[in-house]
Amino acid sequence: MNQYSSLEKALQQYFNFSSFRAGQKDVVEKVLGGNNVLAIMPTGQGKSLCYQLPALLMPGVAVVISPLVALMKDQVDALHGKNLRQATFISSQLTLEEQRRRMDEMGRGKYKIVYVAPERLKSRTFLAQLARIKVSLLTVDEAHCISHWGHDFRPDYLYIREFHGQLPGNPQILALTATATPSVQQDILNQLDIPDACRVVSGSDRPNLYYTAGVFDNDRARLDKLHELLSGRRESGLIYVATRKDAERLASWLSGSLKIAAAAYHAGLEPEERSRVQENFLQGGIDVVVGTNAFGMGIDKPDIRFVIHCCLPASLEAYYQEVGRAGRDGRPALCALLFIHRDRQLQDWIIDNDSLGKEDIVNFMHAYRNSQRDNVSVISCGELEQGGLGETKVRFLISMLERLGIIHLTDRDGDNLYLEAGSEPPTAR
Ligand code: ADP
Ligand code: MG
Repeated sequence: MNQYSSLEKALQQYFNFSSFRAGQKDVVEKVLGGNNVLAIMPTGQGKSLCYQLPALLMPGVAVVISPLVALMKDQVDALHGKNLRQATFISSQLTLEEQRRRMDEMGRGKYKIVYVAPERLKSRTFLAQLARIKVSLLTVDEAHCISHWGHDFRPDYLYIREFHGQLPGNPQILALTATATPSVQQDILNQLDIPDACRVVSGSDRPNLYYTAGVFDNDRARLDKLHELLSGRRESGLIYVATRKDAERLASWLSGSLKIAAAAYHAGLEPEERSRVQENFLQGGIDVVVGTNAFGMGIDKPDIRFVIHCCLPASLEAYYQEVGRAGRDGRPALCALLFIHRDRQLQDWIIDNDSLGKEDIVNFMHAYRNSQRDNVSVISCGELEQGGLGETKVRFLISMLERLGIIHLTDRDGDNLYLEAGSEPPTAR
């Protein structure tokens, strides 16, 4: 019996999962086969398992680089919860004594999985302890952070390559992300020396997510829609807004007028306040967090029932990442994109270093809305092109909105597109 036929058994034994999810087995096999690998899987699908299982089966230690300290602790707690004790994290939140203790234990081979923030890679003590043992796998979580083209570039990630060069025995690399445009993917492959054949992209199907979108004339109209969407819902949800002020204002409107337990979250809050909001949300003391895009990276709350954008997301990839937090438990969840013409001034839609003006989207949505008003879901490409949209952009927009599930193309004939709106949103419980 070879190693691979027993993978399911190991999955069951260590994690108590009966089967692999899409993409997982492919990644695990490639890693165990000795390759550097890039895995692109949607948020919530189970990227962690792709390194955790190999880490347990490989001889030495797996070092996992992760950008968020809170996340590392969650992951380690989850592993301990499965009685997998050989996991730890080393972060500057710990006392110096505790950091030293864990590094020392690592050097004595106590751990199979060690989570660190990218700053740690520059620590001499850390390297010295690693030199005493075998590092089998260097895992780079949220690997899009390595790329200038990504929406969340972290300069410390640029050091990973040099760090890898200093490790004895040339360990394998596994990079993971939910969100990488083709150019970001290429950047990751180049920087981390991963062959193209070892890029695993697994489907982004999230059948339990329902997408809907609307464009509004003003804030009042948008608030009415929001009110309608939220009425009767006492469930966990996220609302994304563009600015700190919007976050504060909307959160107090929700708590004051709608009596929803809501809180604001943005980069202007004190760190303690931010952790308090996050903690409270995870524990269910707060139902709705109104946040800027500073909120949510790596959030693993299974029962988020809606993610509503009252702004344009920074990019299509950012949008995927943000709505990907909804419905991880597999039950229906709503993703609504509500924007108004004013949003035009807020952010630039930058997709793949080709900047696609959001006027384009607004124009398109406008045309779409008009077509619906007349109850004839037909859009003329010619009309859009006359409105200043090039052919490529028209095609791109259409495929984007199709990909988001906002429209379905039912037919095209010559210049005309026949459209249908996306899935109906699920009704509130
Ligand atoms: P990602 O990093 O891709 O966003 P996580 O690794 O945090 O996702 O996993 C999301 C959830 O899915 C976790 O609660 C995890 O335990 C669960 N999970 C992962 N793989 C499986 C599997 N094969 N079977 C059942 N649950 C799984
Ligand atoms: Mg993850």
